[in-house]
Amino acid sequence: MQYNNIDWFKSKHGHEVGGFWVPRVTAITDIINKPALLKYYAQQESFEAAQALLRNSANWGTKTHAAVEQLLKGEEIEPDAQIAPSIQAFHDWFSQYNVSILDPDQDIERMIFDPENYYSGRMDALVEINGELGILDIKTGTGIWEEYYLQTAAYLNAYNKTAPSQRIANKRWILRIEQYKECVSCGAKKRGKSGTDVIKGGNPYCTHQFSPEKGIFEFKDLEDNENDIKAFLNAQELWEWYNQDNLRKIKNYPKKLKYE
Ligand SMILES: [Zn+2]
Repeated sequence: MQYNNIDWFKSKHGHEVGGFWVPRVTAITDIINKPALLKYYAQQESFEAAQALLRNSANWGTKTHAAVEQLLKGEEIEPDAQIAPSIQAFHDWFSQYNVSILDPDQDIERMIFDPENYYSGRMDALVEINGELGILDIKTGTGIWEEYYLQTAAYLNAYNKTAPSQRIANKRWILRIEQYKECVSCGAKKRGKSGTDVIKGGNPYCTHQFSPEKGIFEFKDLEDNENDIKAFLNAQELWEWYNQDNLRKIKNYPKKLKYE
């Protein structure tokens, strides 16, 4: 499809919900600059090589993500050897925290829609941890980035607008799981998720002695919902301004554009 084709824009940025076309949460958060990604590209041999590695890592992430969702639904799985250490890390997290899913059919991969601000998305899971209800987002990258704060705030905000009063959520959590080999003398990490070994951190002059591959989890409780929701809605406004020419061409875009 052509770059300037409106159908291409619509499928890349959003979807139809109840007769409207609305943007996806992740299309909106993509408006944020990602300096880590720029640095990554600069370190690769070529743009194409960088993209190929990102694609492999994304496949690895998708596989891990799918396995975790099956486990959250209570299904039994036999994880692929390639992702087994990460799945072990997931089990470690699950047994360490008091996690429960009230309605696995409804609460995993749940579609959300904000009927006031007109955006939608699919959150990973609505879970209860130590008696508190919240949004759980699963990440498989090497860090917890700023856009996750906006993404989870958007989900929480939309979810609460249509949730029954006894099931209002107050928490947002990120569970990041991944795997690597670690140098026993300098702490450098070697990752093979992209199909090519990538060594980061530690001492560049070390001759490295790597441990067997191990899975780790990082679990973060995000605070300050109000601030993050405000920032997300501002990002949405910026996204709308940036894409105003395309949005004017979409007949069932429900928001009145400020820039007409
Ligand atoms: Zn080392």
